[in-house]
Amino acid sequence: MDKQQAQCDIAIVGGGMVGALTAALLAPTGLTIRVIEAREPSLFTPEQPADLRVSAISATSVRLLEQAGAWASIIAMRAWPYQCLEAAELDGFYTRFSAEALECDYLGYMVENRIIQLGLWQVLAKHPNVQLDCPNGLNNLHQNNHGAKLELTDGQQVQAKLVLACDGAESLTRQLAGIGVTAWDYRQHCMLISIEADALESDTTWQQFNATGPRAFLPMGEKRGSLVWYDEKERIKALSALDNTALAEQIKAHFPPRMGNMTVLDKGSFPLRRRHANQYVKGAVVLLGDAAHTINPLAGQGVNLGFKDVALLNQLIQQGLEAKLDFASPERLARYQRGRRPDNLLMQSAMDVCYHTFSNDFLPLKVLRNLGLKAAEHSGPLKTRVMKYAMGL
Ligand SMILES: Cc1cc2nc3c(=O)[nH]c(=O)nc-3n(C[C@H](O)[C@H](O)[C@H](O)COP(=O)(O)OP(=O)(O)OC[C@H]3O[C@@H](n4cnc5c(N)ncnc54)[C@H](O)[C@@H]3O)c2cc1C
Repeated sequence: MDKQQAQCDIAIVGGGMVGALTAALLAPTGLTIRVIEAREPSLFTPEQPADLRVSAISATSVRLLEQAGAWASIIAMRAWPYQCLEAAELDGFYTRFSAEALECDYLGYMVENRIIQLGLWQVLAKHPNVQLDCPNGLNNLHQNNHGAKLELTDGQQVQAKLVLACDGAESLTRQLAGIGVTAWDYRQHCMLISIEADALESDTTWQQFNATGPRAFLPMGEKRGSLVWYDEKERIKALSALDNTALAEQIKAHFPPRMGNMTVLDKGSFPLRRRHANQYVKGAVVLLGDAAHTINPLAGQGVNLGFKDVALLNQLIQQGLEAKLDFASPERLARYQRGRRPDNLLMQSAMDVCYHTFSNDFLPLKVLRNLGLKAAEHSGPLKTRVMKYAMGL
């Protein structure tokens, strides 16, 4: 085929976790798929320290990664299961969820984002109908009667029947398609900190609420973990300027004493912004993952919601192909938007309620929320339902 005028059934812009999962699940259909990714992830070696970017992956997301054929290689690289989840504020006021109570082996896994991506890329390499075009990027996009024409940064043009925008929060595909977002910044920023410590609870992820923002711990091994420090923008800026030893002192002063002797290995800070695309579909362009929505990460739901987008779109496309119908018909794509947008909005709103309820020092509310944590701890079937929902079960 002429290098300047390539064609494919589906062009996926962004080969991160969401784009790569989409390609891996659709690969067995035989559709021609081109994944356009700007940055190649570095290869994994076991001696590498854990990356800062880590995601808590739900049981449903694990199942999707299994279905895509990627989970075995992800586990073979590095992933850490956790069996307990605890949310607390004042001493004695907490809610604790356990895998045992739900009759599961685990509540979820902590996995580095890059490792999920690498595991999925290994699957893509096995499918001749999937072309992984990296490093390359999207420059421009024009919708036409046959789908859309993409102009890539290396000068190539690609005509695709369907374009999947999986290029993250700042999605250029979304902007070029003319899809607006409703967005605002949270007052809090967040800092991710990799640590090594000698007394970690390696099966438990916990979150301690404070008026200026929660402090959280994600286990990454027997002696490794990741801390998340949410706080006012200026405070995070000041903490980011500290060296690792001084930061460790601040952690000792402001985190619960649950880690023993601790050393800071790495750190990075992130602004927190909520965004929601005003529509998920426009012509031949469909948004998935962070291109469609970003959420406050305090309950670790972001990529899990993105994976739910992927699951539904994959199901609708496969149904179309099996029925020998147009796999990308406007009705089918509208069903995707109807299926996912309200669910993502609900989760965004739930996180915002949690954020506002816990991010203040108003005494009556403080009393109420601590009683709420205690009541939730003893709420039996309701507690089980909440946890099952968060796990995607
Ligand atoms: C601090 C923090 C903690 C988080 N913790 C969790 C958690 O515990 N659990 C959870 O589920 N989620 C978590 N999230 C959210 C999660 O990281 C995101 O939801 C997830 O990364 C979204 O994946 P994605 O593939 O949609 O986008 P991205 O991961 O942003 O990937 C987009 C890809 O597109 C590529 N790209 C961008 N533009 C172009 C272009 N023009 N051309 C070609 N390629 C392009 C990029 O290089 C990248 O590879 C957290 C987020 C933050 C900020």
